Amino acid sequence: MKEEKKNDLATLLGYAGSHKGLTFLGLALSAVSMLLSMAPYICIWLAARDLIAVAPDWTQAQNVTRYGWLAFAFAVGGIVLYFVGLMCTHLAAFRTASNIRKQGVAHVMKAPLGFFDSNASGLIRGRLDAAAADTETLLAHNLADIVGTVVLFVAMLVLMFVFDWRMGAACLLAAVISVIAMFSMMGGKNAKLMAEYQAAQDRMTKAGTEYVRGIPVVKIFQQTVYSFKAFQQAIEDYSNKAEHYQADVCRVPQSVNLTFTEGAFVFLVPVALFLAPGALAGGDFAGFVTNFAFYAVFSAIISTALARIMFAASGMMLAGTALGRISQVMDAPALEIPGHPQVPKGNRVEFKDVSFTYDGSETPALSHVSFTAEPGQTVALVGPSGGGKTTAASLIPRFWDATSGVVEVGGVDVTQIDPHVLMDQVAFVFQNNRLFKASILENVRAARPEATREQVQAALMAAQCKDILEKLPDGLDTQIGSEGTYLSGGEQQRIALARAILKDAPIVVLDEATAFADPENEVLIQKAFATLTKGRTVIMIAHRLSTVVGADTIIVLDEGHIVEQGTHGELTAAGGLYARMWTDYNQAVQWKISSEKEAE
Ligand code: ADP
Repeated sequence: MKEEKKNDLATLLGYAGSHKGLTFLGLALSAVSMLLSMAPYICIWLAARDLIAVAPDWTQAQNVTRYGWLAFAFAVGGIVLYFVGLMCTHLAAFRTASNIRKQGVAHVMKAPLGFFDSNASGLIRGRLDAAAADTETLLAHNLADIVGTVVLFVAMLVLMFVFDWRMGAACLLAAVISVIAMFSMMGGKNAKLMAEYQAAQDRMTKAGTEYVRGIPVVKIFQQTVYSFKAFQQAIEDYSNKAEHYQADVCRVPQSVNLTFTEGAFVFLVPVALFLAPGALAGGDFAGFVTNFAFYAVFSAIISTALARIMFAASGMMLAGTALGRISQVMDAPALEIPGHPQVPKGNRVEFKDVSFTYDGSETPALSHVSFTAEPGQTVALVGPSGGGKTTAASLIPRFWDATSGVVEVGGVDVTQIDPHVLMDQVAFVFQNNRLFKASILENVRAARPEATREQVQAALMAAQCKDILEKLPDGLDTQIGSEGTYLSGGEQQRIALARAILKDAPIVVLDEATAFADPENEVLIQKAFATLTKGRTVIMIAHRLSTVVGADTIIVLDEGHIVEQGTHGELTAAGGLYARMWTDYNQAVQWKISSEKEAE
């Protein structure tokens, strides 16, 4: 456990780079400031000694004012050093957090595109940002506090035994009892209870989020009680666990803890009373009273020290979780870049005995898949949902790399092609192709930054986007996603197609899903598809069989295996899975047409 924390800290300081020294300087200053803040207590002891020695003729105590000023100077010095120290740790912490963000983003840039499918970019950003902010608190505050606390403790121990070890031990006993009470709340079987209580809190937060997300559904379907049953249960469960933890686990130890931290002198007074007769007899009663005065004042420090330990411990825990989240990002696989890239010759796409299993999955999404798309040909991937169509298409632009077997473009293994060359060669339009919050011009031009305005315009026309441009206030320069300019799913797809058309890549990987499109959009999208695919090598994920009738080859994928391949004519004649799908499809179309007629 201890080892792990040390590693966490070392990892964190690793991100500080050249600012690591500043962190150490800050910590050293914080330690010195803590020592300075103890000095006034010694001044108090000195002043008390002088006063008691001359009592009741107080005017004789000439040094008291000097001690007062000294105490003030030490206190102010301590505060000033503390602030300077904090400034150093803050500077280092900000740099560290910014390094974490930069390195995280740099690393993510190297990840294969598929990584972003399972880790939405917003999520990655959120994860990095929150984690970096959490480490900021640790480095800027908690670490300095931890060092300060250690110094405070050592100094406290020394001071406790310097003047009168018996009274020192009495103060320390109170501190020890508080610490034992504090740890009894967290250790042993209570640790499990605390974990359960925190898990219940997490579940409640999640259920709350789901509930808020589901509000539209609740409203539409007029659901009331049932809809928030899960949320309500999560709240009740949390409330029971919290009550049980607080009432049965924390009540006694927390009361003991607070009593002894706040009232460290409970042992001091009886011990002092016990020692007083001896001191009187010994002749140094004044010294004894001075020491008692010192410990009575000094015991107040104990509660500060203990509170600091609590904060520091929670800071360490927070930083540990933050580092865990950072490593989730930093451990993302990096796309391997070939050392000696080869140049693809031509536009043939070939799968050679390709298998692929997703990370964390037991069953392969693709098993021994082989097929060829000759230059200019269209290969359609069809089959039941989950068959592996999207996975197969994703391997061509290297969203993922095949687990075994080879995917070739122009006769070269895609992993041996310079990723930039591969990206120039392949245009892909997938269902989740997103548009940026930018103008339409910039969105389309992302495919080919050097394209002129006219070329972008032409691509948009070829992708049947004329109506979109006409209805938007600033035409090509309209910002998408701002000031109420939102496009429908079908319109977004046409813009994405314009982007692919502008790219003018010889190979097109395409998901023809038009699930979001209304009939008018669908006709236009089909026209845009026709323009995009003309004269190119096309690998198309087909959902509606009408679009694959003309394909050169149809690959039927089921559970990751190619179960059939051939042309539409061959496959319908073969009477296999494809033929059955074709019959079902026609029935569905007929049903749709007749229900539409009835509706008229
Ligand atoms: P299709 O496009 O034919 O519907 P997919 O290629 O999307 O099929 O999926 C093939 C199999 O791989 C399915 O069993 C699916 O659950 C699984 N799969 C798809 N994407 C992922 C992913 N990112 N992580 C893990 N498994 C996945």
